[in-house]
Amino acid sequence: MQRHQFEGYLDKVFDWQRLTAALSEGRQDPQYPWSEVFDAVFLGSACQFGPLHRIETECCRGALRQRIGCLSEDMLGYAMQRQNPAEIFDLGCQVAKRLKRIGVLQSDWARGRVVAAVDGIEICSSYCRCCDACMSRQVERKVEGQLQKCTQYYHRLSAVTVVSTPFPVFLGVRFQQDGETEVACSLALLKDLSEKLGRRFIDILVADALYLQAPFVAELASLGLDWVINLKDNQPDLLAEAERLTAGAPQHHETTPQPDLQLWHLPEVDWPVADRVVRVVKTVRVQDVKCVQVEERPGEVPQSEEPKTERTEGTNSKGKKPQCARVKTKLPAPIVSTNFYASNVDLGAIPPYFIHQLGRSRWTIDAQAFQTITTDCHLKQPSAHQDCALIVLTMIRVLAYTLTMVFYYRQVRSHCRGVPPGFCDMARQLAYGFLTLGSDTS
Ligand SMILES: [Zn+2]
Repeated sequence: MQRHQFEGYLDKVFDWQRLTAALSEGRQDPQYPWSEVFDAVFLGSACQFGPLHRIETECCRGALRQRIGCLSEDMLGYAMQRQNPAEIFDLGCQVAKRLKRIGVLQSDWARGRVVAAVDGIEICSSYCRCCDACMSRQVERKVEGQLQKCTQYYHRLSAVTVVSTPFPVFLGVRFQQDGETEVACSLALLKDLSEKLGRRFIDILVADALYLQAPFVAELASLGLDWVINLKDNQPDLLAEAERLTAGAPQHHETTPQPDLQLWHLPEVDWPVADRVVRVVKTVRVQDVKCVQVEERPGEVPQSEEPKTERTEGTNSKGKKPQCARVKTKLPAPIVSTNFYASNVDLGAIPPYFIHQLGRSRWTIDAQAFQTITTDCHLKQPSAHQDCALIVLTMIRVLAYTLTMVFYYRQVRSHCRGVPPGFCDMARQLAYGFLTLGSDTS
C-alpha cells in the first residue's frame, strides 16, 4: 500500500517502520499484532484524534479505515496494558539521538549548547476514576452547594524537553510514583536519559525554583550537567544575600540587547546550605502596557478601567447609542518583573545576558510544550485509565507530538510558500491524507 507522506518522512529520517516493527509483543497469541495497535494509537495521536474511542471510530469508519482497519477501543487498551513502557521510552531515545545527529537540536542562540528544561505536569485528575497507580489527595469541593472533603485522584509526570531548538523536543517522560516527590521523579528520569542517550547529550538543564535544592544540584554535577535554576524564597538565605548584593543600581557594563531589561551579575555568591558558591543573575524588566481608551459620558461614573471589548460601530457594549462620549486616555502602571537565576554555568567571555536567555528558555516547556500537548494533543484525557496502559498511551502521545512537530517545522513550514498552516491545520491535513490514501491516481 502507498505510504502516507508523514510516514514516508519518518521512514526516510528515522527508519521508522523498522524501529516500530522491532517493538516486542506483550500479549500471547494476539489477534492483531502490536505494530498495528501502535500504529493506530500513534497515527491517531498524530492526527490529534485524542481519546481511544475516537481512534476506534476513525479506524473503523473514518480517516484510518484504509491504513489500519477496524480495531476496538477495548483491544487497544488491553494491548497497551500488557506492553513494556521501557520499550517506548527507548524508542523516544532513538528518535532523540537521530534528531541530534541530523542537526535538529542545534539552535542559533544557545552558543552550541543543547538546553533542556525539566518540569512536572498533572494529568487525569478525577474524583471517581482510579487505577492501581493513581496518586490521591484530600481536597474540599462543593457538592450540592455544601463544602465537602473528597478524595481526588491524579497522576503526575516529569518531562525533559529540549528548549534551545525552534520548537520543543521531548526527550522523555516518567510517571511519578505514589510517595515520590517531583524532584526525585525528575532526577530518576534524568538518570534514565543519561544512561540511554549518553553523558553530554544535554549540556545545560533549566528548571523552576522547586529544583534549587542542594542534593539535586549535587546530582546534576555527577551527571555532568550545567544548570540554571530560578532562585526564589525556598532558598531564603541565598535569595536574601542576592537581594542585598543587587540593591544598588545595575552595573553599567552589563548592557543587554533589550532596552527594557536591567541586569545584575554576581559571579560568586555563597550558598552555605549547599556548601558552595553559585553565580547569580538578577533581571528587572519594565514593560509598558498599551494605552487604554476609556469612554466617559456626562453624568456617568466610569465603571471599569479594563479595555473595552470589540463592539459594533455606533453602539456601546450594551448595544445602546453613546451620548456625547468623551474619550480619555488612561496610562496604567507599567509591569515590572524581577527574576533571580542561580547557575553553575562557567561564562568565560560570554556575557551574563546568556544566563537570562537560558532562564527564559524554561518558559518553553510550560507555555509551549505542555500547553500544546494538553490542548491539541489531549494529554490530560484519561483514555485507557489503567496503570500500564495509561503510561504507554501517554508515551505514545508524547512521541506523536514530538514527531509531528519535527514534520511540521522541517517539512510543512519550511516547504510552504505563503502563510503556513497552523499545527492543528496540519493535523487535519494528515488525517485527510490518510482518508484519501491510494485514491490519487495521478
Ligand atoms: Zn490512575
